[in-house]
Amino acid sequence: MGSAMRHRRPWWKRVLGAGLAAGMVAAWTLAGTSSGFAATASNGVRVETVQLLAGTRHATPMTVIRAEQDGPVVLAVGGVHGDKPAGVEAGKVLAEFRDLERGTLIVIPALNRQAVEAGRRSVDIDLNRAFPTSSRSQPSDPRARAVWDVMQAYGVDYLIDMHEDARPWTSSGLGRVLVYRRVGDNQATAQALKAALDKTSSRSWRLGGEPIVTGLVRSAQDVLGVSAFYVSTSRTDAMSLRVQQHVTAVMTLLERLGMVKGGSGGGTPSNTVTVRTILSGTVHATKLYVIDSGVPGPTVWISGGVHGSELAGWMAAERITQWRVSRGRLIVVPHAFELAVQQRLRAARGYSDLNRQFPTSASGSPSGTLAKGLWEELKRYRPDWVFDLHEAMSNRNLNPSSVGQTIIVYPNSEINALVQTVISRINRNLSSTLDFQMLRYPVQGSLARAAGQFLGANAAIVETSRLYDLDDRIDWHLTIMRYVLEELDMGPVTHTSSLSGSQAAAA
Ligand SMILES: [Zn+2]
Repeated sequence: MGSAMRHRRPWWKRVLGAGLAAGMVAAWTLAGTSSGFAATASNGVRVETVQLLAGTRHATPMTVIRAEQDGPVVLAVGGVHGDKPAGVEAGKVLAEFRDLERGTLIVIPALNRQAVEAGRRSVDIDLNRAFPTSSRSQPSDPRARAVWDVMQAYGVDYLIDMHEDARPWTSSGLGRVLVYRRVGDNQATAQALKAALDKTSSRSWRLGGEPIVTGLVRSAQDVLGVSAFYVSTSRTDAMSLRVQQHVTAVMTLLERLGMVKGGSGGGTPSNTVTVRTILSGTVHATKLYVIDSGVPGPTVWISGGVHGSELAGWMAAERITQWRVSRGRLIVVPHAFELAVQQRLRAARGYSDLNRQFPTSASGSPSGTLAKGLWEELKRYRPDWVFDLHEAMSNRNLNPSSVGQTIIVYPNSEINALVQTVISRINRNLSSTLDFQMLRYPVQGSLARAAGQFLGANAAIVETSRLYDLDDRIDWHLTIMRYVLEELDMGPVTHTSSLSGSQAAAA
């Protein structure tokens, strides 16, 4: 993870260094009540600065940076507490950013401007205890209400709230910590941010506990469904490093979302990554990633979490959202059955097996909201190849009635040949008990069966065995999918087979 970023010197490190040295961003002022200005940069990026809460004692600037091309909306907020200057300074740096390739970056450097100017945590109430716990209420504090309205009006997808603490987590503080809710793909996002933050100094970051109730991050995530992260630096580190770390977190997120240009280093292809929420407005809302090389080639669908208890499948799919391809595109749905993934059950409580709800005849239709929604996406993208990642309790080499350690194809000469090649490659590195074998005909009503039989895709189910360590099972899924993409001439992908400690802890 993150290897795509390892080999180049990001543009924004140069901007950051130059900006701070020249005092350019320091001259930027938080005061003033102007009604705002708009400008268009030479690359078509449109920049608008407005006063939030204009005309009140809480007036504070907000900068909206919009690329010509649509994409995700990211909000970075500093100064929720007035005694945390690194986030405010980072906000000023981010507000100067112009090289946005797609999507929108919104920056509010000093949400609690009076507290920032006073250098105190709060001037009246604690602003990070002013947010609602349900959609039935609205924030009563005007500053909280303002950022709440911004998130809704702009359709914010991601929030980074920039804080700091007196001590790092290694000394029982809350510095060098990322705090977020373990929902959706937040864990994978947090791991990507941590990987980038760990490289800013010799001291490592921690993926922390739950965000505080009635705080901005908790409320944005739980009530508005914004993917929200509390990024806290440590005051035992220098101010310049803390500012750099806040900027790094935001820029890493933008890179991950394909909002800034990919580098040319390391031979990694530059892909456009689009993250869509499908089935939105239902309990089945989940993320779908389109990873597009921009070069003609196959469309490959990879899903996990059709069965939530089959952890290696959806954890591998989460990591595949980080992959990039040299031709064609990937469509990745890591948590096909989001409720089941959250509950780690085959089917969520109160629901039946999703993998029996897809069409079983050419004229048939899927049953249930979730299968219908996923089927619509399969028809929208018309993948040439479909791989649905699963797990079985046992291992077919030990128990002939199990489908563990198999790849089950809806057969035709093309997919048979590809899967045989992939299996012979992975089996070279496995003991015979762990060998994968090819089976025919995914079960009736399964996603793979229906895609193969009725959409003309080359489709298969990949099944690892839950008898073995989770790390190994994830690695087998990733290795099989990497070999698939290599055989389809879509490599290189950025996958490496070594698991980090934090990824293992996600089990
Ligand atoms: Zn399954």
